[in-house]
Amino acid sequence: MKRRLPLKVSVSGVRGIVGESLTPQIAARFASAFGTYLGPGTFLIGQDTRPSGTMLKKAVLSGLLATGCQPVEVGVLPIPTILFLTREKQARGAVVVTASHNPPEWNGLKFIGPEGIYLRHSQVEEFLDIFHQGEFTLAPAERIKSPLQEKNAGELHLERILSKIKVKSIRRCRFRVVVDCANGAGAVLIPRLLQELGCETLLLNTDIGGEFAHQSEPVPENLGELCRRVKEFRADLGLAQDVDADRLALVDEKGRPLGEDLTLSLAVAHVLRKKRGPVAVNLSASMAIDDLAARYRVPVIRTKIGEINVVEAMLENGAVIGGEGNGGVIWPEVHPCRDSLAASGLILEMLAESRQPLSSLAAEFKRYYLIKEKLECPAEVAFRAVVELRRRYRAERLSTLDGLKISREDSWVHIRPSNTEPIIRLMAESRSAARSRRLIEKFKKEIKDTIKKFR
Ligand code: MG
Repeated sequence: MKRRLPLKVSVSGVRGIVGESLTPQIAARFASAFGTYLGPGTFLIGQDTRPSGTMLKKAVLSGLLATGCQPVEVGVLPIPTILFLTREKQARGAVVVTASHNPPEWNGLKFIGPEGIYLRHSQVEEFLDIFHQGEFTLAPAERIKSPLQEKNAGELHLERILSKIKVKSIRRCRFRVVVDCANGAGAVLIPRLLQELGCETLLLNTDIGGEFAHQSEPVPENLGELCRRVKEFRADLGLAQDVDADRLALVDEKGRPLGEDLTLSLAVAHVLRKKRGPVAVNLSASMAIDDLAARYRVPVIRTKIGEINVVEAMLENGAVIGGEGNGGVIWPEVHPCRDSLAASGLILEMLAESRQPLSSLAAEFKRYYLIKEKLECPAEVAFRAVVELRRRYRAERLSTLDGLKISREDSWVHIRPSNTEPIIRLMAESRSAARSRRLIEKFKKEIKDTIKKFR
Protein backbone atom coordinates (compact mmCIF):
# COMPACT_ATOMS: atom_id res chain seq x y z
CA MET A 1 0.00 0.00 0.00
CA LYS A 2 1.24 3.48 -0.80
CA ARG A 3 2.38 5.26 2.33
CA ARG A 4 0.56 8.55 2.88
CA LEU A 5 2.80 11.39 3.90
CA PRO A 6 1.28 13.37 6.75
CA LEU A 7 0.62 17.10 6.65
CA LYS A 8 3.76 18.90 7.75
CA VAL A 9 3.02 21.65 10.22
CA SER A 10 6.03 23.68 11.26
CA VAL A 11 7.13 27.18 12.06
CA SER A 12 7.53 27.80 8.32
CA GLY A 13 3.87 26.98 7.65
CA VAL A 14 1.91 23.98 6.45
CA ARG A 15 2.86 21.66 3.61
CA GLY A 16 1.28 18.53 2.25
CA ILE A 17 0.55 16.52 -0.87
CA VAL A 18 -2.47 17.89 -2.68
CA GLY A 19 -5.42 15.51 -2.60
CA GLU A 20 -3.83 13.49 0.19
CA SER A 21 -2.81 15.38 3.30
CA LEU A 22 -3.61 18.84 1.94
CA THR A 23 -7.23 19.43 0.99
CA PRO A 24 -9.39 22.56 0.52
CA GLN A 25 -11.17 21.69 3.78
CA ILE A 26 -7.90 21.84 5.70
CA ALA A 27 -6.80 25.03 3.93
CA ALA A 28 -10.10 26.73 4.81
CA ARG A 29 -9.78 25.68 8.46
CA PHE A 30 -6.26 27.09 8.66
CA ALA A 31 -7.46 30.35 7.10
CA SER A 32 -10.35 30.63 9.59
CA ALA A 33 -7.94 29.96 12.45
CA PHE A 34 -5.64 32.67 11.11
CA GLY A 35 -8.49 35.18 10.73
CA THR A 36 -9.63 34.34 14.26
CA TYR A 37 -6.10 34.71 15.63
CA LEU A 38 -5.26 38.09 14.07
CA GLY A 39 -8.83 39.42 14.05
CA PRO A 40 -10.79 41.01 11.21
CA GLY A 41 -8.74 43.27 8.96
CA THR A 42 -7.07 43.32 5.56
CA PHE A 43 -5.16 40.19 4.53
CA LEU A 44 -3.06 39.87 1.39
CA ILE A 45 -3.43 36.57 -0.44
CA GLY A 46 -0.73 35.42 -2.82
CA GLN A 47 0.26 32.23 -4.54
CA ASP A 48 3.15 30.66 -6.38
CA THR A 49 2.82 29.03 -9.79
CA ARG A 50 1.72 25.51 -8.82
CA PRO A 51 -1.31 24.10 -10.70
CA SER A 52 -3.14 23.50 -7.39
CA GLY A 53 -2.63 27.13 -6.29
CA THR A 54 -5.99 28.50 -7.36
CA MET A 55 -7.97 25.63 -5.82
CA LEU A 56 -6.31 26.15 -2.44
CA LYS A 57 -6.43 29.92 -2.66
CA LYS A 58 -10.22 29.82 -3.05
CA ALA A 59 -10.44 27.71 0.09
CA VAL A 60 -8.23 30.19 1.94
CA LEU A 61 -10.43 33.08 0.78
CA SER A 62 -13.54 31.32 2.09
CA GLY A 63 -11.93 30.58 5.43
CA LEU A 64 -10.84 34.19 5.89
CA LEU A 65 -14.09 35.71 4.64
CA ALA A 66 -16.00 33.56 7.14
CA THR A 67 -14.19 35.31 9.98
CA GLY A 68 -15.11 38.78 8.67
CA CYS A 69 -11.70 39.56 7.14
CA GLN A 70 -11.08 41.54 3.97
CA PRO A 71 -8.83 39.48 1.66
CA VAL A 72 -6.94 41.30 -1.10
CA GLU A 73 -5.68 39.00 -3.84
CA VAL A 74 -2.30 40.09 -5.14
CA GLY A 75 -1.91 37.12 -7.52
CA VAL A 76 1.35 35.39 -8.36
CA LEU A 77 4.14 37.37 -6.73
CA PRO A 78 7.51 36.48 -5.24
CA ILE A 79 7.13 35.63 -1.57
CA PRO A 80 9.55 38.39 -0.49
CA THR A 81 7.31 40.86 -2.32
CA ILE A 82 4.26 39.69 -0.38
CA LEU A 83 6.19 39.94 2.90
CA PHE A 84 7.27 43.45 1.95
CA LEU A 85 3.75 44.55 0.97
CA THR A 86 2.21 43.22 4.18
CA ARG A 87 4.25 45.67 6.19
CA GLU A 88 4.16 48.57 3.75
CA LYS A 89 0.40 48.40 3.36
CA GLN A 90 -0.11 47.82 7.08
CA ALA A 91 -2.17 44.71 6.43
CA ARG A 92 -3.24 42.58 9.37
CA GLY A 93 -1.47 39.62 7.80
CA ALA A 94 -1.00 37.58 4.63
CA VAL A 95 -1.43 34.01 3.48
CA VAL A 96 0.63 32.65 0.62
CA VAL A 97 -0.26 29.42 -1.13
CA THR A 98 3.17 27.93 -1.81
CA ALA A 99 5.34 24.92 -1.11
CA SER A 100 8.60 26.68 -1.89
CA HIS A 101 11.00 24.18 -3.51
CA ASN A 102 8.99 21.00 -2.85
CA PRO A 103 8.01 18.95 -5.93
CA PRO A 104 4.86 20.04 -7.85
CA GLU A 105 2.50 17.52 -6.20
CA TRP A 106 3.07 19.38 -2.94
CA ASN A 107 1.54 22.65 -1.89
CA GLY A 108 1.25 24.55 1.34
CA LEU A 109 0.34 27.71 3.18
CA LYS A 110 2.64 30.29 4.66
CA PHE A 111 1.37 32.73 7.24
CA ILE A 112 2.73 36.24 7.51
CA GLY A 113 2.12 38.49 10.50
CA PRO A 114 1.56 42.27 10.58
CA GLU A 115 5.31 42.96 10.91
CA GLY A 116 5.81 41.64 7.36
CA ILE A 117 7.74 38.62 8.60
CA TYR A 118 6.71 35.00 9.13
CA LEU A 119 4.96 34.23 12.39
CA ARG A 120 7.31 34.07 15.36
CA HIS A 121 7.44 30.82 17.38
CA SER A 122 5.15 32.09 20.15
CA GLN A 123 2.65 33.35 17.55
CA VAL A 124 2.70 30.00 15.72
CA GLU A 125 1.80 28.23 18.95
CA GLU A 126 -1.18 30.48 19.68
CA PHE A 127 -2.37 30.23 16.09
CA LEU A 128 -2.08 26.43 16.02
CA ASP A 129 -3.96 26.18 19.31
CA ILE A 130 -6.88 27.96 17.67
CA PHE A 131 -6.61 25.65 14.64
CA HIS A 132 -6.59 22.48 16.73
CA GLN A 133 -9.40 23.61 19.01
CA GLY A 134 -11.45 24.63 15.97
CA GLU A 135 -13.05 27.52 17.82
CA PHE A 136 -13.26 30.12 15.11
CA THR A 137 -14.82 33.56 15.46
CA LEU A 138 -17.28 33.48 12.59
CA ALA A 139 -18.86 36.70 11.34
CA PRO A 140 -22.61 37.12 10.80
CA ALA A 141 -23.86 37.35 7.21
CA GLU A 142 -24.03 41.15 7.10
CA ARG A 143 -20.32 41.44 7.96
CA ILE A 144 -19.05 39.03 5.29
CA LYS A 145 -17.03 40.88 2.65
CA SER A 146 -15.98 40.07 -0.91
CA PRO A 147 -12.35 39.58 -1.92
CA LEU A 148 -10.63 42.53 -3.61
CA GLN A 149 -7.94 42.27 -6.25
CA GLU A 150 -4.84 44.36 -6.63
CA LYS A 151 -2.74 44.35 -9.79
CA ASN A 152 0.93 45.34 -10.08
CA ALA A 153 1.31 45.52 -6.32
CA GLY A 154 4.94 44.45 -6.72
CA GLU A 155 6.05 47.84 -8.06
CA LEU A 156 6.40 49.18 -4.51
CA HIS A 157 8.91 46.46 -3.70
CA LEU A 158 11.00 47.26 -6.79
CA GLU A 159 10.97 50.97 -5.95
CA ARG A 160 12.31 50.24 -2.47
CA ILE A 161 15.14 48.06 -3.79
CA LEU A 162 16.08 50.66 -6.41
CA SER A 163 16.16 53.37 -3.73
CA LYS A 164 18.74 51.38 -1.72
CA ILE A 165 21.31 50.54 -4.42
CA LYS A 166 23.49 52.68 -6.70
CA VAL A 167 21.35 52.48 -9.80
CA LYS A 168 23.51 54.88 -11.86
CA SER A 169 26.74 52.93 -11.29
CA ILE A 170 25.02 49.69 -12.24
CA ARG A 171 23.42 51.22 -15.33
CA ARG A 172 26.79 52.47 -16.57
CA CYS A 173 28.11 48.90 -16.66
CA ARG A 174 25.41 47.68 -19.04
CA PHE A 175 25.65 44.21 -17.58
CA ARG A 176 24.61 41.22 -19.64
CA VAL A 177 22.56 38.93 -17.42
CA VAL A 178 20.88 35.57 -17.96
CA VAL A 179 18.10 34.77 -15.47
CA ASP A 180 16.53 31.40 -14.77
CA CYS A 181 13.21 31.94 -12.98
CA ALA A 182 12.41 28.18 -12.92
CA ASN A 183 8.91 29.15 -14.14
CA GLY A 184 8.38 30.53 -10.66
CA ALA A 185 7.01 33.75 -9.23
CA GLY A 186 10.30 35.61 -9.70
CA ALA A 187 9.42 35.89 -13.40
CA VAL A 188 6.78 38.49 -12.51
CA LEU A 189 9.28 41.06 -11.23
CA ILE A 190 12.91 40.35 -11.96
CA PRO A 191 12.75 41.33 -15.66
CA ARG A 192 11.55 44.80 -14.57
CA LEU A 193 14.27 45.11 -11.96
CA LEU A 194 17.00 44.28 -14.47
CA GLN A 195 15.49 46.62 -17.03
CA GLU A 196 15.59 49.47 -14.49
CA LEU A 197 19.24 48.61 -13.86
CA GLY A 198 20.07 48.95 -17.56
CA CYS A 199 20.95 45.28 -18.01
CA GLU A 200 20.77 43.43 -21.27
CA THR A 201 18.84 40.39 -20.19
CA LEU A 202 18.17 36.91 -21.48
CA LEU A 203 15.27 35.33 -19.61
CA LEU A 204 14.84 31.58 -19.15
CA ASN A 205 11.81 29.74 -17.79
CA THR A 206 9.48 32.68 -17.25
CA ASP A 207 6.24 30.83 -17.94
CA ILE A 208 4.20 31.20 -14.78
CA GLY A 209 1.42 29.08 -16.26
CA GLY A 210 2.02 26.01 -14.16
CA GLU A 211 4.67 23.35 -14.81
CA PHE A 212 8.07 23.76 -13.20
CA ALA A 213 10.85 24.03 -15.74
CA HIS A 214 13.22 21.78 -13.82
CA GLN A 215 13.87 20.66 -10.28
CA SER A 216 13.29 23.95 -8.57
CA GLU A 217 16.06 24.14 -5.99
CA PRO A 218 18.72 26.47 -7.41
CA VAL A 219 21.54 23.99 -6.77
CA PRO A 220 24.29 23.42 -9.39
CA GLU A 221 22.87 20.14 -10.76
CA ASN A 222 19.65 21.96 -11.75
CA LEU A 223 21.36 24.87 -13.46
CA GLY A 224 22.84 23.20 -16.56
CA GLU A 225 20.82 25.25 -19.03
CA LEU A 226 21.59 28.52 -17.26
CA CYS A 227 25.34 27.78 -17.28
CA ARG A 228 25.26 26.98 -21.00
CA ARG A 229 23.29 30.10 -21.84
CA VAL A 230 25.57 32.36 -19.79
CA LYS A 231 28.47 31.29 -22.01
CA GLU A 232 26.51 31.54 -25.27
CA PHE A 233 25.16 34.99 -24.35
CA ARG A 234 28.64 36.08 -23.16
CA ALA A 235 26.92 37.26 -20.00
CA ASP A 236 28.56 38.85 -16.97
CA LEU A 237 26.57 36.57 -14.72
CA GLY A 238 23.65 34.21 -14.41
CA LEU A 239 20.96 34.50 -11.75
CA ALA A 240 18.84 31.55 -10.62
CA GLN A 241 15.80 32.02 -8.42
CA ASP A 242 13.84 29.28 -6.71
CA VAL A 243 10.11 29.00 -7.36
CA ASP A 244 8.95 31.48 -4.72
CA ALA A 245 11.97 33.72 -5.37
CA ASP A 246 13.38 34.04 -1.88
CA ARG A 247 16.62 32.25 -2.78
CA LEU A 248 19.24 33.22 -5.34
CA ALA A 249 22.13 31.26 -6.84
CA LEU A 250 24.80 32.71 -9.12
CA VAL A 251 26.64 31.53 -12.23
CA ASP A 252 29.89 33.31 -13.07
CA GLU A 253 30.84 34.76 -16.47
CA LYS A 254 32.58 31.51 -17.39
CA GLY A 255 29.34 29.60 -16.98
CA ARG A 256 30.28 27.98 -13.68
CA PRO A 257 27.71 27.65 -10.89
CA LEU A 258 29.13 29.19 -7.72
CA GLY A 259 27.02 27.20 -5.25
CA GLU A 260 24.18 28.88 -3.38
CA ASP A 261 26.15 29.45 -0.19
CA LEU A 262 28.39 31.86 -2.07
CA THR A 263 25.50 34.25 -2.76
CA LEU A 264 25.31 34.95 0.96
CA SER A 265 29.10 35.27 1.38
CA LEU A 266 29.27 37.81 -1.45
CA ALA A 267 26.34 39.82 -0.09
CA VAL A 268 27.85 39.85 3.41
CA ALA A 269 31.24 40.94 2.04
CA HIS A 270 29.64 43.75 0.04
CA VAL A 271 27.45 45.10 2.83
CA LEU A 272 30.13 44.92 5.55
CA ARG A 273 32.55 46.85 3.37
CA LYS A 274 30.08 49.76 3.46
CA LYS A 275 28.45 49.38 6.84
CA ARG A 276 29.82 47.53 9.84
CA GLY A 277 27.48 45.75 12.19
CA PRO A 278 26.45 42.34 13.45
CA VAL A 279 25.77 39.50 11.00
CA ALA A 280 23.20 36.78 11.69
CA VAL A 281 23.24 33.52 9.74
CA ASN A 282 22.02 30.00 10.37
CA LEU A 283 24.18 27.15 11.64
CA SER A 284 24.91 25.73 8.21
CA ALA A 285 26.08 28.92 6.51
CA SER A 286 29.71 28.82 5.37
CA MET A 287 32.74 29.48 7.60
CA ALA A 288 33.53 32.20 5.04
CA ILE A 289 31.03 34.34 6.96
CA ASP A 290 33.13 34.01 10.14
CA ASP A 291 36.27 35.02 8.21
CA LEU A 292 34.51 38.11 6.85
CA ALA A 293 33.17 39.07 10.26
CA ALA A 294 36.64 38.66 11.78
CA ARG A 295 38.11 40.91 9.10
CA TYR A 296 35.61 43.67 9.94
CA ARG A 297 35.59 42.88 13.68
CA VAL A 298 31.86 42.35 13.86
CA PRO A 299 30.04 39.55 15.67
CA VAL A 300 28.32 36.62 13.95
CA ILE A 301 25.13 35.29 15.51
CA ARG A 302 24.36 31.67 14.54
CA THR A 303 20.74 30.54 14.59
CA LYS A 304 18.59 27.51 13.95
CA ILE A 305 17.67 26.82 10.34
CA GLY A 306 14.54 28.60 9.12
CA GLU A 307 14.06 32.15 7.96
CA ILE A 308 12.16 33.39 11.02
CA ASN A 309 14.97 32.27 13.35
CA VAL A 310 17.51 34.33 11.42
CA VAL A 311 15.10 37.27 11.11
CA GLU A 312 14.43 37.33 14.85
CA ALA A 313 18.16 37.28 15.61
CA MET A 314 18.76 40.06 13.09
CA LEU A 315 16.07 42.31 14.53
CA GLU A 316 17.19 41.64 18.10
CA ASN A 317 20.85 42.36 17.38
CA GLY A 318 20.48 45.13 14.81
CA ALA A 319 22.25 43.04 12.16
CA VAL A 320 23.20 44.86 8.95
CA ILE A 321 23.11 41.72 6.80
CA GLY A 322 22.33 38.05 7.26
CA GLY A 323 20.56 35.07 5.83
CA GLU A 324 20.84 31.41 5.08
CA GLY A 325 23.49 29.50 3.16
CA ASN A 326 20.89 28.21 0.69
CA GLY A 327 21.01 31.49 -1.23
CA GLY A 328 18.63 33.31 1.11
CA VAL A 329 20.04 36.79 1.59
CA ILE A 330 18.37 39.08 4.15
CA TRP A 331 19.21 42.75 3.74
CA PRO A 332 17.21 44.76 6.28
CA GLU A 333 17.68 48.04 4.36
CA VAL A 334 14.93 46.74 2.08
CA HIS A 335 13.13 44.54 4.61
CA PRO A 336 14.07 41.78 7.04
CA CYS A 337 13.29 38.80 4.77
CA ARG A 338 15.09 36.48 2.36
CA ASP A 339 14.78 38.22 -0.95
CA SER A 340 16.29 37.13 -4.30
CA LEU A 341 15.44 40.50 -5.87
CA ALA A 342 17.19 42.58 -3.21
CA ALA A 343 20.07 40.08 -3.37
CA SER A 344 20.32 40.51 -7.17
CA GLY A 345 20.51 44.27 -6.67
CA LEU A 346 23.31 43.89 -4.11
CA ILE A 347 25.34 41.52 -6.29
CA LEU A 348 25.03 43.80 -9.34
CA GLU A 349 26.08 46.78 -7.22
CA MET A 350 29.06 44.79 -5.96
CA LEU A 351 30.09 43.93 -9.53
CA ALA A 352 29.67 47.54 -10.62
CA GLU A 353 31.72 48.98 -7.76
CA SER A 354 34.48 46.38 -7.76
CA ARG A 355 34.95 46.43 -11.53
CA GLN A 356 35.98 42.81 -11.32
CA PRO A 357 34.40 39.81 -13.00
CA LEU A 358 32.25 37.65 -10.76
CA SER A 359 34.74 34.76 -11.00
CA SER A 360 37.46 36.92 -9.35
CA LEU A 361 35.11 38.11 -6.61
CA ALA A 362 34.13 34.51 -5.97
CA ALA A 363 37.74 33.28 -5.95
CA GLU A 364 38.23 34.87 -2.55
CA PHE A 365 35.80 32.36 -1.05
CA LYS A 366 37.06 29.26 -2.81
CA ARG A 367 38.97 28.08 0.20
CA TYR A 368 35.92 26.28 1.53
CA TYR A 369 34.02 23.40 0.05
CA LEU A 370 30.48 22.85 1.20
CA ILE A 371 28.77 19.59 0.30
CA LYS A 372 25.07 18.96 0.92
CA GLU A 373 23.32 15.62 0.78
CA LYS A 374 20.04 14.20 1.93
CA LEU A 375 19.01 10.78 3.13
CA GLU A 376 15.44 9.54 3.04
CA CYS A 377 14.22 8.72 6.48
CA PRO A 378 10.91 8.99 8.37
CA ALA A 379 10.99 11.94 10.78
CA GLU A 380 10.69 9.89 13.95
CA VAL A 381 13.60 7.62 13.09
CA ALA A 382 15.63 10.64 11.98
CA PHE A 383 15.26 12.33 15.35
CA ARG A 384 16.26 9.19 17.23
CA ALA A 385 19.32 8.74 15.01
CA VAL A 386 20.43 12.31 15.76
CA VAL A 387 20.08 11.75 19.49
CA GLU A 388 22.25 8.64 19.18
CA LEU A 389 24.94 10.56 17.25
CA ARG A 390 24.92 13.34 19.84
CA ARG A 391 25.75 10.76 22.47
CA ARG A 392 28.51 9.22 20.36
CA TYR A 393 30.24 12.55 19.63
CA ARG A 394 29.69 14.20 23.01
CA ALA A 395 33.43 14.71 23.55
CA GLU A 396 33.63 17.08 20.55
CA ARG A 397 32.56 20.70 20.08
CA LEU A 398 28.84 20.28 19.44
CA SER A 399 25.89 22.51 18.82
CA THR A 400 22.51 20.94 19.47
CA LEU A 401 20.61 24.11 18.69
CA ASP A 402 19.23 22.43 15.57
CA GLY A 403 19.95 18.76 14.93
CA LEU A 404 23.63 18.20 15.51
CA LYS A 405 26.58 20.30 14.37
CA ILE A 406 30.07 19.02 15.03
CA SER A 407 32.65 21.79 14.65
CA ARG A 408 36.35 21.02 14.31
CA GLU A 409 39.40 23.18 13.67
CA ASP A 410 38.66 24.01 10.03
CA SER A 411 35.70 21.85 9.19
CA TRP A 412 32.20 21.07 10.36
CA VAL A 413 29.40 18.60 9.81
CA HIS A 414 25.73 19.43 10.33
CA ILE A 415 23.12 16.67 10.53
CA ARG A 416 19.52 17.77 10.68
CA PRO A 417 16.16 16.07 10.24
CA SER A 418 14.09 18.26 7.89
CA ASN A 419 10.98 19.92 9.32
CA THR A 420 9.16 19.81 6.03
CA GLU A 421 10.14 16.53 4.32
CA PRO A 422 10.89 12.96 5.51
CA ILE A 423 14.63 13.37 5.05
CA ILE A 424 17.81 13.99 7.00
CA ARG A 425 19.92 16.80 5.64
CA LEU A 426 23.63 16.35 5.86
CA MET A 427 26.20 19.07 5.27
CA ALA A 428 29.95 19.25 5.57
CA GLU A 429 32.40 22.05 4.94
CA SER A 430 36.19 22.01 4.97
CA ARG A 431 39.17 23.42 3.13
CA SER A 432 39.25 20.73 0.47
CA ALA A 433 36.59 19.12 -1.68
CA ALA A 434 38.05 15.67 -1.03
CA ARG A 435 37.93 16.13 2.71
CA SER A 436 34.35 17.44 2.69
CA ARG A 437 33.42 14.41 0.58
CA ARG A 438 35.13 12.06 3.03
CA LEU A 439 33.30 13.69 5.95
CA ILE A 440 29.95 13.36 4.18
CA GLU A 441 30.54 9.70 3.28
CA LYS A 442 31.68 8.82 6.80
CA PHE A 443 28.63 10.37 8.42
CA LYS A 444 26.25 9.11 5.76
CA LYS A 445 27.35 5.57 6.49
CA GLU A 446 27.12 6.14 10.21
CA ILE A 447 23.60 7.57 9.95
CA LYS A 448 22.46 4.73 7.68
CA ASP A 449 23.77 2.15 10.15
CA THR A 450 22.10 3.98 13.03
CA ILE A 451 18.80 4.23 11.16
CA LYS A 452 18.87 0.47 10.47
CA LYS A 453 19.08 -0.17 14.18
CA PHE A 454 15.89 1.83 14.79
CA ARG A 455 13.75 0.52 11.94
MG1 MG B 1 11.95 29.42 -1.55
